Amino acid sequence: MNLTSLEQIIVCPACKKSLSKISNSYKCEDETCDSTYPVFNGIPILINPKNDLFEQKDFEKQSDIFFKTYNSGLTRFLKKIQPGITYNNISEKNYIHIAGLLKDKKPLRILILGGSVDGVGIKHLKEVLQKEDLLVETDVSYGPNTTVICDAHEIPFADDSFDLIIAQAVLEHVLDPFLCVREMHRVIKNDGLIYAETPFMQQVHGGKYDFLRFTHLGHRRMFRTFNEIDSGVVAGAGSALVWSLKYFLTSFANSKKVDRVLSYGGTFLFFWLKYFDKILNKTKGTIDAASGFYFLGRKEKGYLLSDKELLSSYRGFRYSSEE
Ligand SMILES: [Zn+2]
Repeated sequence: MNLTSLEQIIVCPACKKSLSKISNSYKCEDETCDSTYPVFNGIPILINPKNDLFEQKDFEKQSDIFFKTYNSGLTRFLKKIQPGITYNNISEKNYIHIAGLLKDKKPLRILILGGSVDGVGIKHLKEVLQKEDLLVETDVSYGPNTTVICDAHEIPFADDSFDLIIAQAVLEHVLDPFLCVREMHRVIKNDGLIYAETPFMQQVHGGKYDFLRFTHLGHRRMFRTFNEIDSGVVAGAGSALVWSLKYFLTSFANSKKVDRVLSYGGTFLFFWLKYFDKILNKTKGTIDAASGFYFLGRKEKGYLLSDKELLSSYRGFRYSSEE
């Protein structure tokens, strides 16, 4: 990563004023704010010192806060051989679409939230990046990709910094996704893009860091300050059914051990149902039953989707009281 161009756009997450580099840390230039931000292993920890949930010192050790990385040998083996339970043939196409939309913008600046590891299909976007482009992969945990530690509620970048922000399977894991989207809108350039994927029919994953789900329209409304380019299903009702059956089994558990057995059992018993999504990812009926949705939009000055327009964009077949 190009640290110089990164330093041109980072700001204090607490007050959004400029930061100056002092030996191995950053210091807010605003005297009343006076916050400092350490750099551990070359990774700036741009977490507000007053953050309620995360403390800067949590990141001092290269330990993983979000994902537990320690597993027993058997668990590691099962993890390795278990099939995926979601059929997603959509993200890949979306990233190819996004790469096409951005092809005339050079140098590109892209921000990934929750980007400690690669999201599904993102390699199609990464492979078109040139040396002069800036890709900032942020998270609240260390992973192979993490270049900045930050909290999506307080994005430590200046207004109008990025051509694209990606939040793939992230917004269900934040406490206030609406606030995070406001922050994204602030740091995206005019005419820049937002791409988000968020679950609808998925049971709890990520343990305690899992808070919300969205219908297609609920998801659309969260991005109402962006003009829609495209939106739809990421994985359909087949994937949702696998999740549901697997979690039906695990809900019988009264101990962690039993949960593990039922969880792997459920995966191996039911994963094949996801292949219904080869068909269901394309049907109109899936919009009311999908595993998750994506939204691709553009920031346009003064744009705001009205709630009337929102409701008239409903694509499903569920009955409403007026009919
Ligand atoms: Zn500050």
